[in-house]
Amino acid sequence: MVRYVLLVIIAGIVGGIIARRKGRSPIWWSILCAIVPLLIIVIALLPPLVSEGYTKKCPYCAEIIKEDAMFCKHCGREQPIEMVRVQNKK
Ligand SMILES: [Zn+2]
Repeated sequence: MVRYVLLVIIAGIVGGIIARRKGRSPIWWSILCAIVPLLIIVIALLPPLVSEGYTKKCPYCAEIIKEDAMFCKHCGREQPIEMVRVQNKK
């Protein structure tokens, strides 16, 4: 019984982490993975979504990469640096 509870907790955490990395709802997926641990495989195979603040789309190969990535992991090209915002000081 204790083992089953542990399995459920671990499945939930792992599912949530994978979901977050893929730009999907971590809460929703951790609950689903806790109920059906096999869903971890499903979420691991699902393509990542573009989520604001965590992932972005590579302008060269259109693959989803991490927001902070300097280089695309798919095509290896350097990501364009966003314009540095200059604050107007009076
Ligand atoms: Zn790329």
